[in-house]
Amino acid sequence: MNQAPLPPDRIRRIVIVGGGSAGWMAAATLARILGPDYADVTVVESDEIGTVGVGEATIPQMATFNRMLGIDEDEFIRETKGSFKLGIEFVDWARIGHSYFHPFGSFGVNMGGVSFHAYYLRARANGDTRPIEDWSLQATAASRGKFMRPIDAGRSPLSEIAYAYHFDAGLYANYLRRFAEARGVVRQEGRVVDVPLRPGDGFVEAVVLADGTRIGGDLFIDCSGFRALLIGKALGTGFVDWSHWLPCDRAVAVPCAGSDAMTPFTRSTARKAGWQWRIPLQHRVGNGHVYCSRYLSDDEATAMLLENLDGEPLADPRLVPFRTGHRTSFWVRNCVALGLAAGFMEPLESTSLWLIQSGISRLLAMFPDRRFDPAEIDRYNRILSTEYAEIRDFLILHYHATERRDSAFWDHCRNMAVPERLAEKMRVFQSHGRTFRENEELFNDTSWFAVMLGQQLAPRAYDPVADMMSWDETERRLAHIRDAINNSADYMPPHREFIRANCAAT
Ligand SMILES: Cc1cc2nc3c(=O)[nH]c(=O)nc-3n(C[C@H](O)[C@H](O)[C@H](O)COP(=O)(O)OP(=O)(O)OC[C@H]3O[C@@H](n4cnc5c(N)ncnc54)[C@H](O)[C@@H]3O)c2cc1C
Repeated sequence: MNQAPLPPDRIRRIVIVGGGSAGWMAAATLARILGPDYADVTVVESDEIGTVGVGEATIPQMATFNRMLGIDEDEFIRETKGSFKLGIEFVDWARIGHSYFHPFGSFGVNMGGVSFHAYYLRARANGDTRPIEDWSLQATAASRGKFMRPIDAGRSPLSEIAYAYHFDAGLYANYLRRFAEARGVVRQEGRVVDVPLRPGDGFVEAVVLADGTRIGGDLFIDCSGFRALLIGKALGTGFVDWSHWLPCDRAVAVPCAGSDAMTPFTRSTARKAGWQWRIPLQHRVGNGHVYCSRYLSDDEATAMLLENLDGEPLADPRLVPFRTGHRTSFWVRNCVALGLAAGFMEPLESTSLWLIQSGISRLLAMFPDRRFDPAEIDRYNRILSTEYAEIRDFLILHYHATERRDSAFWDHCRNMAVPERLAEKMRVFQSHGRTFRENEELFNDTSWFAVMLGQQLAPRAYDPVADMMSWDETERRLAHIRDAINNSADYMPPHREFIRANCAAT
């Protein structure tokens, strides 16, 4: 039987420039979804240049990515010396000495079509001083160092445990590389020194390596990190700068020895001109201090970081300067940028790897042929721009809604004008404590509620529809949910024990 002829415009050669998390996430997905016969996929990377080497905390959507690849979760955690994450603890953000938890999953359960948040705020108005975290299994388990995956337990909170991962970024890229190479992706070592454009239409024609090797392609994926070799340097795509809203512009990172208590959450501790992350892995703890160079020198930032580690530093501190914002277009002609080449917002809510995931899935949803229809490219760019802006607003909230007055940095953040969309969300919350997920935005009403309340924004009143239930009944149900969460957290094993039993690194 004759095979149907290939459409003449089909993409045959895909060149991915960069072998960090972005490059290998893209390569693994293309290999898995398109299969080895659809197109040749080459990843060009330079050992001499290396990767950014950070990016170790994720959000629950990463599990969907792994499932799409068909990755076994225990193997994945073992190979990346990873751990599990139930949310983020924010220390000293609202004011020094205060902390709150932004958990995955939701708080309580909605009742009679009314948000749980409304009942909680009603209880607060009636004098209940318990934190909202008491109604989150993720937050309760995290505070006790417990973890397990959800089980089939009917209506128990144990059926709905939401979690993400921490992992070693270097091991993650290696893991995906093995995955991709086993499915036909070719890795080309070398330093790209030139990116010739096609005369006439300005499409990327090839990348040229230092040894003269020329690699041509139909579709180029720029995963070259902050260098943005294709989308920025070669194609001259502009940059939307958001540093007036997110003023931190540097990070210093250092791994340190960990203790036996491997906490199942990321900790973010606010400092006088930024904040410090703590990401526990099986073999070490990842740490970094994100700060604003206008208010803090590199030496001061490094000293503060080194003073606040769990154990001995395991390497020299590494400085990573960055600019917050994104390319004016993520996809230009036959070049799509992913990862740091596309844009960057600080890792406060671990959103960068997710933005790579989103970029890849949207690229697949609008996979081009060699005509590269501008209508599809425009749509891709519009969606990605919206996603970036929605996350940006959520991050700004953490800085802006604060009572901190102890440094010029916090004064700036407290007093700065914020995007109108965020300002409106804050006004609505301050009215009756209502939060909403806009369209398909990444952060849902629970996340907005957790951070708005955690940052001490105070609603003037609770949602009046919460009065539809009698106060006795409301109290009874709140107690019932809290007990169920408490018992569920009791049932869960310690995080370390769970890892030891299922996915300990060798
Ligand atoms: C301080 C900091 C903390 C972060 N923390 C988190 C986090 O907790 N969670 C999260 O989701 N994200 C986080 N991120 C973001 C995350 O690190 C990145 O999104 C992710 O690692 C992807 O990086 P990348 O692959 O785009 O770039 P890189 O890792 O920099 O990779 C770039 C690749 O391009 C190659 N390359 C560059 N130039 C050339 C050339 N001329 N020739 C050949 N190859 C070249 C390099 O060798 C490398 O392989 C963080 C980022 C920073 C800066």
